[in-house]
Amino acid sequence: MSKNFPDASPETLAAQALGVTEPLTGAVTPPVYIASTFEREADLEYKNGFIYGRPDNQTVRQAEGVLTALEGGAASLLVASGMSAATGVFLALKPGDTALVPEVMYWGIRKWLNAWGAEWGVAIVYYPNDDMAALQALTQKHKPALIWAETPSNPMWSITDLKEAARIAHSVGAKLAVDSTVATPVLSRPLEHGADIVMHSATKYLNGHSDVIAGALVTREADDFWQRIVGIRKDIGTIMGPFEAWLLLRGMRTLHVRVRAASANAMAIARHFEKHPKVAQVLYPGLPGHAGHAVAARQMTGGFGGMLSIRVTGGKEGAVKAAAGLKLFKRATSLGGVESLVEHRRSIEGPESPVPEDLLRFSIGIESESDLIADLEQALAAV
Ligand SMILES: *Cc1c(COP(=O)(O)O)cnc(C)c1O
Repeated sequence: MSKNFPDASPETLAAQALGVTEPLTGAVTPPVYIASTFEREADLEYKNGFIYGRPDNQTVRQAEGVLTALEGGAASLLVASGMSAATGVFLALKPGDTALVPEVMYWGIRKWLNAWGAEWGVAIVYYPNDDMAALQALTQKHKPALIWAETPSNPMWSITDLKEAARIAHSVGAKLAVDSTVATPVLSRPLEHGADIVMHSATKYLNGHSDVIAGALVTREADDFWQRIVGIRKDIGTIMGPFEAWLLLRGMRTLHVRVRAASANAMAIARHFEKHPKVAQVLYPGLPGHAGHAVAARQMTGGFGGMLSIRVTGGKEGAVKAAAGLKLFKRATSLGGVESLVEHRRSIEGPESPVPEDLLRFSIGIESESDLIADLEQALAAV
């Protein structure tokens, strides 16, 4: 389709998975290419470029093509999980390098970085997510090779100004990589703001149906740093399986409608509970009172995402009781599916977590807004 219809918008590209039909039968949905190995020609060459299933796979390539188009990048890599996507970027650093990472970020990456950075001689320095003056000062001091950002960041939903972060990174020759799992390419395209690499836990919104573990990286330029990451996927063997890639390709066809519906529901819930007597605070970048609202309004388009957190009155006890009383929301980890989930993050992340004890994290799905509000109302009434 990109050839037949060069001006197609992202919705169109996603809905038709770039418009590819299968040449043998004309099928409008592609088959799953599961072969692990490919025949050589008599002259020992591989005429189609495929040699073995660890470096590459056609179903994976098709899904990568869609994501590259949605993010406006030069190339993508799909891997077995969001964690293997994130760690692939850090593993491409060298001993003696410094990485600046945000104080509030996906806890699994923070936990891995603290252990790995120390053991492998990569210095990990934290910066406050939304303080670009502090990021500037730390960058001047530490001369990092990489700045990592996550926006909106899990689970406080603070916002990082990507244009500023990119300018600061590039002023010392560093790369800016952005965990854009929560924003999705529907609401934010970090490469347009100057980022070098975008990372997704494709387990979340990109797939959207809570049935795949997957990760993705998209690059603005296929430069040397990117080639190191490509080598890491190939040599460590973290490529996504073909069945997962096929499910992801299917999931991305509905990405825009799912993300917009979840964002609209989240906005309605945030507004409804903002001044609720059992609620100490609603954390959602779509609310004008949120510290990151102005930057979010500038760098996100079409909504503020489906993730929000609520600090419940009555401390940890109040929060756990409210979660226990929910009937429609599922008490489960993860996010970005069509069904709404709730989680008491502090219990999951442990005592070193910066997350307040009274906080419940909500992944808002695409159910009826009034059903979700009614469920939260009845659960909060019991607190
Ligand atoms: C879930 C998540 C990850 C990790 O992804 P997995 O697919 O679980 O490995 C990283 N970053 C964010 C923001 C996430 O929500």
